[in-house]
Amino acid sequence: MGNASPRVRRDVSLREANSFRVESIAEQYVEVHNERELLDALVQARRESVPVTLLGGGTNVVMLGRIDGRVIRIASRGVVFDEDDGGARVTAAGGENWHELVLACLDRGLSGLENLALIPGTVGAAPMQNIGAYGVELSSLVIGVAAIDTRDMQPTVLEAPACAFRYRDSVFKSDEPNRYAITGLVLRLGERPLETGYRDVREELGVMGRGDSPQSVAEAVIRIRRRKLPDPQETGNAGSTFKNPSLSRVRLDRLRGRLDIDAYEAGDHYKVPAARLVEAAGWKGYRSGDAGVWPRHALVLVNYGRATGRQVLDLAQRIRDDIAHKFEVELEREPQVLGHD
Ligand code: NAP
Repeated sequence: MGNASPRVRRDVSLREANSFRVESIAEQYVEVHNERELLDALVQARRESVPVTLLGGGTNVVMLGRIDGRVIRIASRGVVFDEDDGGARVTAAGGENWHELVLACLDRGLSGLENLALIPGTVGAAPMQNIGAYGVELSSLVIGVAAIDTRDMQPTVLEAPACAFRYRDSVFKSDEPNRYAITGLVLRLGERPLETGYRDVREELGVMGRGDSPQSVAEAVIRIRRRKLPDPQETGNAGSTFKNPSLSRVRLDRLRGRLDIDAYEAGDHYKVPAARLVEAAGWKGYRSGDAGVWPRHALVLVNYGRATGRQVLDLAQRIRDDIAHKFEVELEREPQVLGHD
């Protein structure tokens, strides 16, 4: 008693397991609540030669009609705070809700995560794309990422350099996809200076008139996000659909010959807001059937009800083609595509 592995179910609808709320059927589905259960599910799948898809909150994926093999949803919980004079080392399980972790840390007076408030998804999914917002990237706070290495099925902790974090990318997403099953995150908090350089944040803090503190920055970010972004509980979406492109000086100048656009220096390149390109091309607020572009944020594709993953992807592709044609800029998609038609 008590040690039984969770039941693997067959032909399970994932509609409630993805924030786009598109229909997709998993051939096999199992929810795991700790490292032991995850390991069992992985080992069993390998023994049966069944492909595995790992799922956290399903907030950065576009699912197509069917996912073959075994979908393992990581639902482990638990947060441990090791406080010291300078701040704290925070260890959080992969299935924890990201925003709840942000709030729990702020409640304990631990700064660092305030700019990352209200990003949907789980703790385990956060390092995949190195979530970032308003000038703070997760990578600046990570001590390590706990995972099961599926090569040898051993638990391991990857220290920050081994995670190869970069703009919305990591070893987990691009370099070695499917190798690591992330079980948790170890963060160092309480040390990072406040980051209030982004225009929206500065303006919101001004409107709030409460001075700068981790709590007020978090509140400003929450207010901005609530205003601009659709609530996935009400309107299916997966946040930003495209990354911000990075252009050389020459290409930026060429783009600026066609469009008045902000640009931010990033090393020897210039990052330009993809949202501005999508809006300038006339897509903001566009709707085709139940797939559309959110009227208050051009980077967010939405499902108004019965859109399929394929319809969402087709719309993303039409936008990409149009931007390439109008502005000679290639947009890169952010969410991962799972399954097939
Ligand atoms: P925004 O505030 O309208 O700004 C547009 C873009 O310009 C941003 O994407 C940002 O790049 C860049 N930018 C603005 N001020 C900047 C500054 N002072 N220095 C450098 N770059 C600056 O952006 P938004 O689309 O509403 O998104 C707000 C924030 O949430 C952004 O930071 C965005 O990246 C983040 N976000 C993250 C995710 C994710 O992690 N998956 C998803 C959605 C939004 P950056 O993208 O580099 O910040």
